[in-house]
Amino acid sequence: MNTSLILESLAAVQRAILANEAHIESLDRAIGDGDHFINVRRGCEVLVAMSPDLQGAPPAVALQKIGLKLLGTIGGASGPLISSFFLSMGKAVEGMAEPDRHQFAQAFAAGVEAIKTRGKADVGEKTMLDVLIPAARLLQRLVDEDAPLASLCGQMKEEAERNMLATKDMIATKGRAYFLGERALGHIDPGSKTCEVAIRAVCDTVAAKELA
Ligand code: ADP
Ligand code: MG
Repeated sequence: MNTSLILESLAAVQRAILANEAHIESLDRAIGDGDHFINVRRGCEVLVAMSPDLQGAPPAVALQKIGLKLLGTIGGASGPLISSFFLSMGKAVEGMAEPDRHQFAQAFAAGVEAIKTRGKADVGEKTMLDVLIPAARLLQRLVDEDAPLASLCGQMKEEAERNMLATKDMIATKGRAYFLGERALGHIDPGSKTCEVAIRAVCDTVAAKELA
């Protein structure tokens, strides 16, 4: 995963987020304050705009610059969380020109761990971590098993979708939905949806590269 593929994947994430605007927006309107889509879209726009300047940088530098920039651009609870994800991922690939699958899986896990620490949350609390924590675990397992890329990407997408949908049946113990108690039941967590959309976009980008 070199910088150019990381940036290409993030551009795909932006397109996918925009394509899912209505859905993501309605989820945060139902159990949050309705700004999640706006927050994430702003983050994506800034990221894509800074992309040309990052092309020549090593992955660690690019990811850390993205993290710092996002800290000041995405608002809400998700801003500092997403920012810490990129900062920690960047730190984990320091000195690597092109992290291999093992190194990438470890960096992804480090990013997810940073969100856990920053958000003081874990699985089962109806947040983005319900998609991210199992995704990090599955990625690490598939990489250890040397799974072919197409199968790895397919399984990652399925797992993300399943876990995103499962947030419907959870009561939130973190974030704004916490105040709704049982009224949050039946609604997907917006952050989980965003992460599922992002994972799908990255998987499709990476898988297409391999086939090309
Ligand atoms: P805000 O809740 O401040 O309006 P956003 O709407 O941008 O911020 O983001 C809401 C999303 O952030 C939620 O759907 C949830 O997935 C995630 N989230 C909220 N609190 C936490 C937390 N403590 N840990 C992890 N994720 C969280
Ligand atoms: Mg919100």
